[in-house]
Amino acid sequence: MASFDIAVIAGDGIGIEVMEETLRVLAVLEEYESDFSLNLEKFPWSTEYYLEHGRMMPEDGLEILKKFDAILFGAIGDARLPDDLTIWELIMPIRKQFQQYVNFRPVKSLPGIHSPLSNGEEIDFVIFRENAEGEYSTSGGTMFDGQAEEMAVQNVIMTRDGVEKITRAACEYAMKHGRKKITNATKSNVIVHTMKMWDKYLKQVVAEEYPELEVESNYIDALVAYFVQRPQSFEVVVASNLFGDILSDLGSGLVGGLGLSPSANINPEKEFPSMFEAVHGSAPDIAGKGIANPIAQIWSGALMLEHLGRLDLADRVTTAIEDVLREGEVKTADIGGTATTAEMGTAIITKIREQYEG
Ligand code: NAD
Repeated sequence: MASFDIAVIAGDGIGIEVMEETLRVLAVLEEYESDFSLNLEKFPWSTEYYLEHGRMMPEDGLEILKKFDAILFGAIGDARLPDDLTIWELIMPIRKQFQQYVNFRPVKSLPGIHSPLSNGEEIDFVIFRENAEGEYSTSGGTMFDGQAEEMAVQNVIMTRDGVEKITRAACEYAMKHGRKKITNATKSNVIVHTMKMWDKYLKQVVAEEYPELEVESNYIDALVAYFVQRPQSFEVVVASNLFGDILSDLGSGLVGGLGLSPSANINPEKEFPSMFEAVHGSAPDIAGKGIANPIAQIWSGALMLEHLGRLDLADRVTTAIEDVLREGEVKTADIGGTATTAEMGTAIITKIREQYEG
C-alpha cells in the first residue's frame, strides 16, 4: 500500500471552495484503489489565520511542511491584507526555500471549450517558468519615503545555476514527451546583464546536452503577439519568473480562462515537497458564492498524482474532466454555464466512478 503524506493549505476566497472539490475527487480514487492512500493534514494558514496570529504561517511553518510528500495549495488574497504581504509571507517562502524552481503550466485546448483564437486547431504547449529567483526577489529597498527625492530599487537576481536548472527541466520534459522545440522568452536586446546571461546558458545547455532540440528565441514583446497569432506553433516555452507569470495567464486565456488552468511548483530533485495549485488567485469577486470553477484545482491535484508516481490516477482525473467538458451539460459560469462548484465536482466524480464501474 503506497501512502502519501499531503499538506493541504486551502487559503482564502475560492481557494477554500475549489479545494473542497479536489479533496472529494482524491477521496474517490482512494475508495477504488486498494494500493493507494493519502494522509491529509489541513493547515488553516490564510488571511483569517494572520488576523488571529499576526503571521501567515507559524514561525516553524516550513519545518512542518518539509516532512510532507507534497503540498496542495488553494489560493490566497483578501482585501483585509495587502497582497504583497499574503504572497511574500506564505507562497514565496515555500517556493523559494523548497527550491521549487520549476513552475510547470500546461496550456491545452479542451473539448467543448471555445478558444477565442484557436480557429479549430489544437493548442497544446507547456510553460516552464523559473520559479525561485529572477525578477521576484526581495533584493532592493526604498529611501526618502514621501519626500521629493523618494527612490526605490528592485534587483533582478539570476544565477547561472538557476538558468541551467530550469532549461534542463524543460529539455527533459521535451525529450520525454516527444517535443522538438524549446521557445526562449527573452529581452536580452534591452536587459543586457541578466537576460544576456539567461540566453547564453539556456542555449549552451540545449546545444551541449540536448542537441536533438531546436531553440527558438523570441523577445517577450514579440512573443506575446505570437501567442495570439500562432499559439499552435509552441511546444515548450522557457521563461524567467516574471515573463513566465504573464505568459501563463495569457496562455490560460487562450484555452478558456483561469478556471481551467493548473500549475505545479516542482523541486525536481525531490529534496523538498513540491506544491500544486491552480494558476488563479482567490477571486474575491466571486468568493463565497459557490460558483467558482474547480477544474483548475482538481487538475492541479492530478499533476500532484503524476508527481507522486501515479500517472494512471492522474490520467483518470484528466480524462474525467475532458469527458464532462465534452458532454457540456455541466458548466460553471466562467465557461458559459450555470453549474455550481459542487455540481462540477460531482460531475467529475461521476465520470471517475463510471471508469471504475464501466
Ligand atoms: P484571480 O485569479 O483571483 O481572478 C481573476 C479573474 O478570474 C476574476 O474575475 C475571477 O473571478 C476569475 N476567476 C479566477 N479563478 C476562477 C475560477 N476558478 N472560476 C471562475 N472564475 C475564476 O486574480 P486577481 O483578481 O488578480 O487576484 C485576486 C487575489 O488573488 C489577489 O489578492 C491576488 O494577490 C491573489 N492571487 C493569489 C494567487 C495565489 O494564491 N497563487 C495567484 C494570483 C492572485
